[in-house]
Amino acid sequence: MIDNLKRINLILTLRKLGVTNHNVLSILEKIPREEFIDKDLNYKAYQNKALPIDCNQTISQPAVVAKMTELLEPKQNSNVLEIGTGSGYQTAILSKLFKRIYTIERHNLLLEKAKKVLNKLKITNIVFYHGDGLEGWPAKFAFDRIIITAVSNSLPKKIIEQLSDNGILVLPLIRGGEQYISKVVKKNKKLIIEKSWRVRFVPLVSGIN
Ligand code: SAH
Repeated sequence: MIDNLKRINLILTLRKLGVTNHNVLSILEKIPREEFIDKDLNYKAYQNKALPIDCNQTISQPAVVAKMTELLEPKQNSNVLEIGTGSGYQTAILSKLFKRIYTIERHNLLLEKAKKVLNKLKITNIVFYHGDGLEGWPAKFAFDRIIITAVSNSLPKKIIEQLSDNGILVLPLIRGGEQYISKVVKKNKKLIIEKSWRVRFVPLVSGIN
């Protein structure tokens, strides 16, 4: 009961902050965020806060997860490439809105943990890969939708190459020393970039661990 109230409160907060997509909001209400964090942080699971996970990384703030998902313009028949599996929380949200999620994480420990949780939640439309997301998906694929959940100074070239024409990439980008969620649309091979919320993310790092 108390947990339900906390979840509803979180959804109200997200609405107030300007998340409007009903599907996205109702999925955030349903996915148990406590499963993706340490037990001793469970009391914070429905606060609109980023929280620490293993390997010095963070599970993103629910509002940021919701906003980035909304900007991706969910389409049930599309596949998504996700760079930065982390806890797997964003992956779980995406799994309910898209056909299949191809997710890459550079820390094997995080990837293995995320696999376990998603398996426990009976989420099966995910393809996991332990690797460097900066190299893109390790097969010649094109994706309609790509999400990167770690921050960089510039648009990673190999990832842009894997974005289809009319595709959407959502990522945090550094502009003038600040990080902004950014939506990149590819139109006739040109990139149109729109800035959204100011945020704080862990960096996109090359190589694997
Ligand atoms: N969406 C995740 C966010 C995790 S934080 C969540 O809500 O839990 C960002 C993640 O990106 C970290 O797990 C980090 O290890 C990963 N990451 C950073 N650079 C990467 C790269 N080049 N390839 C793959 N994963 C990367």
